[in-house]
Amino acid sequence: MATALNKAIHPELVAPCGINCAVCRRYLSFINKIPRTKGVIYCQGCRPQDKRCSLMRPACRRTLKLTESEIDYCCDCNSYPCEKLSGLDKRYREKYGASVIENLEEIRALGLAEFLAAQTKKYTCPQCGGLICVHDNRCYHCGRCGAERH
Ligand SMILES: [Zn+2]
Repeated sequence: MATALNKAIHPELVAPCGINCAVCRRYLSFINKIPRTKGVIYCQGCRPQDKRCSLMRPACRRTLKLTESEIDYCCDCNSYPCEKLSGLDKRYREKYGASVIENLEEIRALGLAEFLAAQTKKYTCPQCGGLICVHDNRCYHCGRCGAERH
């Protein structure tokens, strides 16, 4: 059931490393105004927060002699996939059953709009139409736990 909640994911919410911030625990906590008790951290997304992904530290730019504007996603970099990104990908695959490298490949193959449409479908809560968290499979809008992903 489509609800007003099921809005398209904003392109700015895809971090350079391929993480979809829209389904991140910290972003969902922020957007759903989850009470900031112990362990609850708010984030507005890697790009909106400070325009620099944790993986695109000054070190990336220094090594590659790149400016921020030259790289939109890690897959645009000539070191892709670098050790740091591969490590992140491994952690995501093992812990969350998601792959940031797969995300980047999808963006490259399908374009951002189609990637975001697929992500929205994949993470939409069947109960309320909110987004399910990639980190703990919970819907931060209605509280549904262990929701099946499409
Ligand atoms: Zn829900």
